[in-house]
Amino acid sequence: MNHVLEARDLTRYYDVSQGFFKGNATVKALNGVSFTLDAGKTLAVVGESGCGKSTLARQLTLIEPPTSGALLLEGTDAAKAGKSELQAMRTKVQMVFQNPYASLNPRQKIGDQLAEPLLINTRMSASERKDAVLSMMQRVGLRPEHYFRYPHMFSGGQRQRIAIARAMMLQPRIVVADEPTSALDVSIQAQVLNLFMDLQDEFNTAYLFISHNLAVVEHVADDVMVMYLGRAVEIGSKDTIYNRPLHPYTRALLSATPSIHPENRAIKIKIEGELPSPLNPPSGCAFHKRCPHAQERCTREEPQLRTVDAQRVACHRAEELRP
Ligand code: SF4
Repeated sequence: MNHVLEARDLTRYYDVSQGFFKGNATVKALNGVSFTLDAGKTLAVVGESGCGKSTLARQLTLIEPPTSGALLLEGTDAAKAGKSELQAMRTKVQMVFQNPYASLNPRQKIGDQLAEPLLINTRMSASERKDAVLSMMQRVGLRPEHYFRYPHMFSGGQRQRIAIARAMMLQPRIVVADEPTSALDVSIQAQVLNLFMDLQDEFNTAYLFISHNLAVVEHVADDVMVMYLGRAVEIGSKDTIYNRPLHPYTRALLSATPSIHPENRAIKIKIEGELPSPLNPPSGCAFHKRCPHAQERCTREEPQLRTVDAQRVACHRAEELRP
């Protein structure tokens, strides 16, 4: 079976200047990430800021090519696609950003902004485009009179509904949502998450949902990938990861979210220290300087992602540390 999206060992490195005397250094923002995504499913990507989540989003939306590795969209390798094929692939992956105001044109009426993807990518007539826009507006909870209004005339929650409607206009196969509710009031967040889920049911869209908020992720995810310093350190179904996390970093993230199964979180695991600089990552396991279970082996040997029980985990001591 073809997955709607398959990432194989994706890397993205950036050369950065360290100043006149020190020359350039390489930041490994994404360092060998592999996963699959199926139609109608949601993979949540979690981790602290700087872990590589947003770099991953840029690769998936084909904004920039990976340094190495392969990205397959419905079985087609993006690196081998011709110009027109790549353009068609880009319409299949849409993005919803954290700040909807920044992604909308303040000087263009909402109806025109929603019609734009249809104008560029389809042969629909003006009246067909208008009908499609009004239908999508109704679908996301906007009224017909909103068609002629500008972005500043809406609340934050309404603007995110507009951004979601815009992403869905071409009925993409995949939506990459980068912290789509973190700028919204808590009371609005649940409504927007429910909208995402309703649209997924209706259009069978696959979501890659990036969030640092594990309570939000629990609401939407089918599968969860935990990232640390450009690598996936644990991947599994949401139930497996939330009920029986194996990686010490995953456990620490979950224990820092008291609203999730508080009965299981009597012992709070604290992550000490800051996320290390990707310019100078620690040797061995990148988490070893913050891990309460680190041993000598962890400082010199990098753990690879491997299957342990029902998930894949990158930790030398996963079996011993099982709860
Ligand atoms: Fe901690 Fe070692 Fe596992 Fe890394 S490999 S998470 S340092 S126990």
